[in-house]
Amino acid sequence: MSTATAESAAVEQVPKQLFIGGEWRDGSAGALAVEDPATGETICEVADASVADARAALDAAVAAQAEWAAHPPRERGEILRRAYEELVARADELALVMTLEMGKPLADARAEVIYAAEFFRWFSEEAVRIAGRYSVAPNGQGRFLTMQQPVGPCLLITPWNFPLAMGTRKLGPAIAAGCTAVVKPAKQTPLSMLALARVLEHCGLPAGVVNLVTSSKSGEIMEPLIRDPRLRKLSFTGSTEVGRRLIEQSAEQILRVSMELGGNAPFLIFEDADLDEALAGAMVAKMRNMGEACTSANRFYVAEPLAETFATRLAERIGALKVGRGTEDGVQVGPLIDQAGRDKVDELVRDAVGKGATAVVGGAAIDGPGYFYAPTVLGDVPAGARLLDEEIFGPVAPVTSFGSEEAAIAAANDTPYGLIAYVFTRDVKRALRVCEGLETGMVGLNQGLVSNPAAPFGGVKASGFGREGGSEGIGEFLETKFVSIGG
Ligand code: NAP
Repeated sequence: MSTATAESAAVEQVPKQLFIGGEWRDGSAGALAVEDPATGETICEVADASVADARAALDAAVAAQAEWAAHPPRERGEILRRAYEELVARADELALVMTLEMGKPLADARAEVIYAAEFFRWFSEEAVRIAGRYSVAPNGQGRFLTMQQPVGPCLLITPWNFPLAMGTRKLGPAIAAGCTAVVKPAKQTPLSMLALARVLEHCGLPAGVVNLVTSSKSGEIMEPLIRDPRLRKLSFTGSTEVGRRLIEQSAEQILRVSMELGGNAPFLIFEDADLDEALAGAMVAKMRNMGEACTSANRFYVAEPLAETFATRLAERIGALKVGRGTEDGVQVGPLIDQAGRDKVDELVRDAVGKGATAVVGGAAIDGPGYFYAPTVLGDVPAGARLLDEEIFGPVAPVTSFGSEEAAIAAANDTPYGLIAYVFTRDVKRALRVCEGLETGMVGLNQGLVSNPAAPFGGVKASGFGREGGSEGIGEFLETKFVSIGG
């Protein structure tokens, strides 16, 4: 099969309609075009949902809730386990779809499919471990029963940067906990989630448990759902700006919310670090997903004696990466998601260079079709450069130096965000001091990648609240009920 034929066959297999109450149906607001960011060309169109469609999706989730909550946990887990197996078996085809709609290289897309599937495997195991407590009241005059129940119908809103994994990270625990859901993926990348809905359907998920709406007007169709008293939970992954707006909307009915928001990750390298290890970690933390990750290293703080060497060696590695369409052999850096995303990266780099930073490698957008940006290392980035304060979301590594451990921690914490920090040191006492001093939900200690379905992912400060993955992840979809037993 030629490459073009394989690409159109993979896209062809993905349903393009809304999935509501176990049926595939057209959107009442017409169609939404999906673009390949490597070419700027339209790949296909999917359904565009109206407010009425979104409400129908919530109706279906509400109708299915009681039965799903009563479904045996083992069976809920087995559906997830079958879906895990199907995702793994079809990883190549799903990766191709993801690369076409999002741009990341095929190898990265395949890794995301496996990572996404692992959430289903993890939560298939958690479904049967939802436990409560029974205890004697401290005064001996009664008994305490503490039970965990599904929170109820949920709204799950996901971003474009990890179009499959951000979905399974929410759907896995929701399904395992006995919650029904309406899912809304980002308009740039609806195909991965549509393919996922089909997988769940194949694996025997009852009608109405998961409902999927795709839309070009997310604000318009989501707000009525968030204000609908039948909705019991909002789980959102996306920008801090949109998250803040959704928290405001959720306040009306005191809706339970989980927020996985933006980041501004510091990457600290101390003078006792293993520099080769730090470079390897930096490549993953910065260049995975073209820098379009909430966990992406946004600011490199390097001990003064190492800063110049680190910037030079990082530039050698980053400059050698192969840029191109993610479907091509050997490509390591794909395009950015769209024109607005690339313009923002360009603006931040120009601002830094204008304020005195030097482009050790890269430093400009790449001409031609698609939204490519040259992998970039900026040295001597001065305080006050906007990219030290704002999420870059692109393949740009700003390097700056620090003089003392206290100064490094202070610089790392000098941001409203608090998702993740990376720390490279061989001194165990320093490692613990710095980890304790960092105001983040996660720390990568001598490693550049922390995401794991078996561990609690999430942030503090403006990076949000709530945790996804680990044993904490299912708790976001459960309510605790306390029964005080007299006598
Ligand atoms: P975004 O613009 O905030 O969009 C995220 C999702 O929200 C999309 O589905 C989007 O739909 C929807 N949305 C936008 N405006 C909305 C509104 N008014 N009401 C309801 N829904 C709305 O973020 P993005 O650009 O897709 O994603 C990048 C951001 O996500 C970055 O800041 C990144 O750090 C963050 N992120 C965080 C994590 C984490 O776990 N902390 C993980 C991944 C990404 P449309 O796009 O269709 O409008």
